[in-house]
Amino acid sequence: MVTDHHSAEPTDHHSAEPTDPRTAGPTRYRAERAGRRLDDTALKEIIAVQEEIFVRRQPNSAHLAQVAQQHLAGGVTSSWQITAPQPVWLSHGYGSKVYDVDGNEYVDLHGGYGAALAGHAHPAIQQAVATQITRGTHFAQPTPNAVAVARELARRFGLPSWRFANSGTEATMDAVHLMRSITGRDLIIKIEGCYHGHHDSVQVSVMPDPDDAGPRNRPNSAPSSTGIPKAITDLTVIATFNDPGSVERLLDEHQDQVAGMIIEPIMMNAGIIKPEPGYLGELKDLLHRHHALLTFDEVKTGLTVGPGGVTQQQQVQPDLITLAKSLGGGVSVAAIGGTEAVMDHVASGGYEMVGTFNGNPLAMAATRAMLTEVATPAAYEKIEKLRRRAAEGIEQAIASSNLAAHVVTAGAKGCVVFAEEPVRDYRGFLGVDDRYSHAHWLFQHNGGVFLPPWGKTEQWLISVQHDEADIDRMIENFGVFAQAVGGEPQPLSAVSCARHLNESTCY
Ligand code: PLP
Repeated sequence: MVTDHHSAEPTDHHSAEPTDPRTAGPTRYRAERAGRRLDDTALKEIIAVQEEIFVRRQPNSAHLAQVAQQHLAGGVTSSWQITAPQPVWLSHGYGSKVYDVDGNEYVDLHGGYGAALAGHAHPAIQQAVATQITRGTHFAQPTPNAVAVARELARRFGLPSWRFANSGTEATMDAVHLMRSITGRDLIIKIEGCYHGHHDSVQVSVMPDPDDAGPRNRPNSAPSSTGIPKAITDLTVIATFNDPGSVERLLDEHQDQVAGMIIEPIMMNAGIIKPEPGYLGELKDLLHRHHALLTFDEVKTGLTVGPGGVTQQQQVQPDLITLAKSLGGGVSVAAIGGTEAVMDHVASGGYEMVGTFNGNPLAMAATRAMLTEVATPAAYEKIEKLRRRAAEGIEQAIASSNLAAHVVTAGAKGCVVFAEEPVRDYRGFLGVDDRYSHAHWLFQHNGGVFLPPWGKTEQWLISVQHDEADIDRMIENFGVFAQAVGGEPQPLSAVSCARHLNESTCY
């Protein structure tokens, strides 16, 4: 059956298998598609079909979500676990896979929001944690592993001196405090669309609605959370990624008031947006000319884009670096590194960097194993091959399906951006069609691949334990999705189910 996919004329493909719920939605509407975009109703129906399959496959998750409402606020342990159509409750993870409470297996490319570079139950992490557990898990005194970890971070990231914390939020909070404490100034510059955790100073213009964001060339300081006084929000002024001019303007307008700037050197809370050549170096020069400091928030990029993060790749040394997520091989830990001048301020008591669990022995043991036995040169070589395989496979599926999309990768991280043009800042990101990202997430999930929820904002994470078959499952699922929402029209029978799927999990 031949169909002109530019035609508005509906074609009767669905009559071939009218009762098959797995494919009815996508196929029925394929012929109504105008060019590369489905109309709203068509996409909504595809999403509805996939959400129905999603819920049908996970009755135990549905039950737990219900029961949990009684004593867990919102039925979850973090608000970002409230995902549509329902939270997914997991029972365990092993290697490159996780398993939900309904017994479904997933290739895990969610990676716990980018924290599972080691994969799950990695033997080296198991060993380190098991050994430490038999020797005590908390003293609030330093242990020798902390020295080994700090030395290795200094080697990878080029900053000589380190301290530890427990989460990315704590690390960036300390970095902001330090910049203010050293300079005696109150303002910090933050990039529109960057996320740095949930403390007051950085909960500003994280994901502002277009109505709140202000003019493109002069973004507002838009609050990103309730419960934060305006007086604090106003101390964070907003610049545009890849636009050094926007930082220069702020430094000029607020002479001698800016303590420093915090930035994700590759934006990773708006898909993946890379810095243009020279941008990061230019920022450092500008800030230093104004006696202000530069923090690279490498909580997400740290070990995942390469062994020494963006810092090592781009050869731009900031004054401060924050790390967390994958650093502890799945155990909660964070690190703050600084130049000698910055960390002397801590060493001399100019700023008290404190915390009961800072440098916790369990976290230090796991982090040492992560740095010395897991995130090795051989592991990065393997990840690079898988990165290339994923990018090429998905790009091919995009090319053959007529979808307006492209792939962006950075080491172990990658995403599909549902826009034709590359995105270079938050305003460009706003134009990316999130409905496609959500539909893609659902197709992957129903096909046994767990990508991070939250559509266009997040990325996949390839761990050291993934293999080619895992990546091929993602590519295959993407192919089915792409054909459903963007492909050349074809009869239902030609929309193949991914090889690994059985009847109950097939689209
Ligand atoms: N910085 C960045 C770049 C992040 O992506 C995140 C979390 O997603 C954080 C900081 C905060 O980390 P945490 O959730 O561990 O507090």
